[in-house]
Amino acid sequence: MKRFCAKCGIEIGVFEVSSLGNLCPNCYMEIRGITVPPREVPLTICRKCYSVKFKNRWLPIDLSTEKSVENMIHAIRGIVEKAFNFKVFVALTLQDVYKIVSGEQTTVTITLDEKIHPLLKPKEMAINLDIKPNFSICPVCLKVTGKNFEATIQLRGFSNRELEQIKALVNKIIIERSGGSHNIQTGALWEEVDGGVDILLPSIDIARRISNIVKKMFNVQVKESYKDWGWDKSKGRHLRRLTILLRSRNA
Ligand SMILES: [Zn+2]
Ligand SMILES: [Zn+2]
Repeated sequence: MKRFCAKCGIEIGVFEVSSLGNLCPNCYMEIRGITVPPREVPLTICRKCYSVKFKNRWLPIDLSTEKSVENMIHAIRGIVEKAFNFKVFVALTLQDVYKIVSGEQTTVTITLDEKIHPLLKPKEMAINLDIKPNFSICPVCLKVTGKNFEATIQLRGFSNRELEQIKALVNKIIIERSGGSHNIQTGALWEEVDGGVDILLPSIDIARRISNIVKKMFNVQVKESYKDWGWDKSKGRHLRRLTILLRSRNA
């Protein structure tokens, strides 16, 4: 026999009938004046790379690994716990993550642990909530798609084979640094120019990392220069763009 919550009409189980007075956990908490977990969780997702926003960070979502499930759970749990003040556990599969990043509203189950409230006896109580994806753009994708790069590495005098080697290396570094959400196509711009290649990069940090490795692998001459290109109001200083010229000595 199917049973339904006396207040909202959602289907309930034996436990709710016997212990919660025919109410679903949510309505029970509402009536008892206990903070209720949100029924809907808005989730900000980068429409380019699927990274998910959590606090002020963007957690990478690499759909080829289980790590993306972990990151998605982390973000959802963080948002629910912030709104709700109690510890929750979120169950999610890779399938769910696919659904969420493809923009589908997805229902997931959260479990409230035993310490939720003295009025609630159960050890575990499952509640369904809807994940509502909101699409935005993460800072890395914003810089790359807006061609707003902080650094350029100029490679000059390398053979095609060496350039291919460096390209593979840059790809590897970007994948590692981004947790798999970006690669050389989405996290940088590799431009063939007269006499070599320019690599345009969203951060000075990653440019230095790449140039340090190239310096170790090849015999190069290095020249660095900064150029002001604007004013950073929030920091009260010039925005600077770094150019690192790496010229092969073997050419
Ligand atoms: Zn109800
Ligand atoms: Zn992104």
